[in-house]
Amino acid sequence: MAPIPGSGLAKGLAVTLRTMTRKSVTAQYPDTQPELPPRSRGVIGLFEENCTVCMLCARECPDWCIYIDSHKETVPPAAPGGRERSRNVLDRFAIDFSLCMYCGICIEVCPFDALFWSPEFEYAETDIRDLTHERDKLREWMWTVPAPPALDPGAEEPKEVAAARKTADKLAAAQAGEPGQEGRA
Ligand code: SF4
Ligand code: SF4
Repeated sequence: MAPIPGSGLAKGLAVTLRTMTRKSVTAQYPDTQPELPPRSRGVIGLFEENCTVCMLCARECPDWCIYIDSHKETVPPAAPGGRERSRNVLDRFAIDFSLCMYCGICIEVCPFDALFWSPEFEYAETDIRDLTHERDKLREWMWTVPAPPALDPGAEEPKEVAAARKTADKLAAAQAGEPGQEGRA
């Protein structure tokens, strides 16, 4: 059956009228800030103290946008008569966010929990070179990383928490000058 002349126009106008009477859903950013889920992929923070310079993140990054420089340092033996050890010392850690595609692989593969997602996304730059964030800037992002979600009721305490508490207790005891703490490693 041939369409009635002008029916297309009438349909179009009907859609226009329907849409005109609907409430607008446009968020007036930046006056209105978006409500993002806490684990949104905004920017990556580096918790440098946890990084052992294993290079896994840089090797696995599909965009090759993680730059790490390091050198080896010899540290004295932990106990008298022991062997000297060598460890990696971080010289540079940078992520080029102009290349990053926010896949999260680096965060997933880091075996030492040194990389975290922050929901911060307002770091646009007028110069593309400024999108390479060096270690100090990556550390600053750590302050914007949300706390991890609470454990399920009755869940076992993570071993990292127990280890951290033990170390903190040891330090507190040493600072309080408790007898028997001197000279211990
Ligand atoms: S999120 Fe993906 S692309 Fe971005 S630095 Fe990590 S591994 Fe590379
Ligand atoms: S994978 Fe983790 S520990 Fe290894 S270099 Fe990257 S951030 Fe550091």
